[in-house]
Amino acid sequence: MNITSAKFIKGAVGTDNILENTIAQVAFIGRSNAGKSSLINALTNQKDLAITSSYPGRTQQMNIFLINKSLYFVDLPGYGFVRISPAVREKLQKMIDWYLFRSGYQQKYVVLVIDANIGLTDFDLDMLYKLEAEEKNIIVVGNKVDKIKKSVYEKQIEKIQEQIGSHKLFLFSSTKKIGIGELAAFLLK
Ligand code: GDP
Repeated sequence: MNITSAKFIKGAVGTDNILENTIAQVAFIGRSNAGKSSLINALTNQKDLAITSSYPGRTQQMNIFLINKSLYFVDLPGYGFVRISPAVREKLQKMIDWYLFRSGYQQKYVVLVIDANIGLTDFDLDMLYKLEAEEKNIIVVGNKVDKIKKSVYEKQIEKIQEQIGSHKLFLFSSTKKIGIGELAAFLLK
């Protein structure tokens, strides 16, 4: 199945009626600059649905998109933020932790977006372990595969797979439009 419609519904900062209804939620989480917004735009085939981090505004809330009128994508703020104040960073971290670990909301999948060229950073591993501890249905998307040098490509993918253990890894490039169909089909299944 393909994504045929995607609509920005609203930004939430905490408990929200919209998250209480019966529509399934797929959460996207990742280190700031891993390319999470670009990935959501590529996946939904819309240029500016998720606002990339060069535009601050919407990155400080949980952005909710309705996909194919039947599924919510919940785009969480990026973690590991480098360009923002410690106070804002703490506020965002609290929001992420609340939504994922304390709100009681269930997710069909939690999609951990990483920069495949860099591999998993300490921030990513920390998030992965927390998601595992809460028994979330985790999938990992290695974005920016187009940036990996050919000579180290296989080694890099092997290393990522080793770090994430048995979780499913999707190889992706938002820029080069690699892996879109496979990921969309999996999330919609
Ligand atoms: P976010 O902070 O995780 O939402 O990241 P953005 O979507 O804003 O992307 C961060 C930067 O990475 C931007 O400069 C993007 O153009 C770039 N980027 C995102 N996806 C890819 C990709 O698949 N390949 C390459 N080469 N660059 C990408």
